[in-house]
Parts: sequence; structure tokens; C-alpha cells
Amino acid sequence: MKYAVVNGERIEPKPSLKGICQSCNLPMIAKCGEVRVWHWSHAGKRTCDPWWENETEWHRSWKNQFPIDWQEIIHRAETGEKHIADVKTNRDWVLEFQHSFLKPEERRARNGFYKKLVWIVDGNRRPRMKKQFFKTLDDISPVSRDPLIRPVFLGFSALLEEWVNPQVPVVFDFGEESSLWCLIPTSPDEMYVHVAEISRAGLIALHQDITTQACHDNFANYILRLGKIVSDYAANRARELSTPSLPARYPIGLSRRLMGFRQYSDLLHRSRRRF
Ligand SMILES: [Zn+2]
Repeated sequence: MKYAVVNGERIEPKPSLKGICQSCNLPMIAKCGEVRVWHWSHAGKRTCDPWWENETEWHRSWKNQFPIDWQEIIHRAETGEKHIADVKTNRDWVLEFQHSFLKPEERRARNGFYKKLVWIVDGNRRPRMKKQFFKTLDDISPVSRDPLIRPVFLGFSALLEEWVNPQVPVVFDFGEESSLWCLIPTSPDEMYVHVAEISRAGLIALHQDITTQACHDNFANYILRLGKIVSDYAANRARELSTPSLPARYPIGLSRRLMGFRQYSDLLHRSRRRF
């Protein structure tokens, strides 16, 4: 962890410093080596929070984009269950930075626990993940250019398959300075999903509107707007398909209805053999 309590204050680790865990009150030791980022570790056991993931530079650089008093915040449910959120904003959005693979049951549990949750996922866990993801982006025309929203056929990307049906927003970080890709939680079709391009600075700014009115939740509005663009687009396409004169090009999810189930199944089967 980045913080432990020393003399009543949340402090970052320094060599030889001892503190206590802000969640369980047990002793913590500052680990200040040369391999991993400097962090606090529970004395004698791994962690008091089973959801905690060992931090990397990637985790730490994301946390550092937000005010200190939003970082590593204990979130309590009415049942008494508590976990340490990576970041919790002044709009009660919890941002979880996820590097390693997460079992679907734990993902669902965390979605249910935090409710207003955004996953920020390290897309560079394996080199092929980034390659697959961007290859799929080139396959289909966008449904919107501003903001840029692209449908992505599910069979081509292991990372998207891993995060399919997210229920909450998921943002993939492939280490590019300009672009992150937000997987839109709602999808009008089960065979493909939609991703929206958002800048790193833009995503951070949507959560840092601390000067605006208390009821104004910019990130919630942003996600709603993405969902509406996608559903409006799907409704328009469905209308076009029901008329005799069909447009020349379709997204692949709609093309499958035209090409027939047999051909579509073959395409899907071939695509799944890619990884
Ligand atoms: Zn603890």
C-alpha cells in the first residue's frame, strides 16, 4: 500500500519506518527496495484485504493523478464488509486499477460491492493483448466519430472476452499517452461490444470537476451519453434493415443477420481459433 498510519497521519513509506494499517490497525513495515515500488506491507502476513493487488509503477502513476485524500480509501458496506478502494472521488466513484487477471466471480463481487465503479485495466499485461485489440478496431467502421466509438466483434480479442458484460465502465490503458479505450457497459447485441476513445487527461478531468456544482456528475453523464449514441445507432440500423433499399456497408454484427447463421458461425469459429 502507498499509505500507512504513523502518529495519526497517513504517510508514504520511508526506510525503517513503522506504521499501522488504516484498515485493520495491525503493524505495517515500510518496504523500500530497488525492485518494487516503495510500499507498506503487513508484518507477518500478505494483506488484510483479499482484493488487494500488489502495486506496480503503473498502479502508482494512476493513483498519483488524483488528490491524496482520494487515494486508498476504506469503503464500508452496510453489512460491515470493508475494502480499500484504490481511488474514491468526491462523486463516490471508485476507480480500481487492475493489472493481473481477475476471476469473473471476484469481478462481479467487486462490481456489486462498490456500485459506482470504474475499472482501469492494464492492457499491456501480455504483448499480444494490445496487438489483438487494435487489429479488431480496424475491422469495422465507427458508429460515431466525435466521440470516436467503434463496435468490436468479440471473437478477436482475448482482453475483450475477459471483460465482456462488464456491468460497469471498463477503461483499457495500453500505455499510449493520448488514448484510452472505454468499454461501454451496455450493448445492443451479444456478439459485439462498443469501445469509445477517451484521452488520459480527459478521463482524469471528468473525475476532477471539484469546482462545479455538487450534483453535477460529469463522468456519469459521459457514460450515459456513450450508451445513448450506441442505442440510437442500433435503432437507426434496425430501421434501415427493415426497408427494401439497404445501405452498402454494415457493421459486422448486423451483417451477420444478412449473411445467414451458417456463414456467421463459420466466421466466429475461425476467429476464435486465433488465440
Ligand atoms: Zn490491514
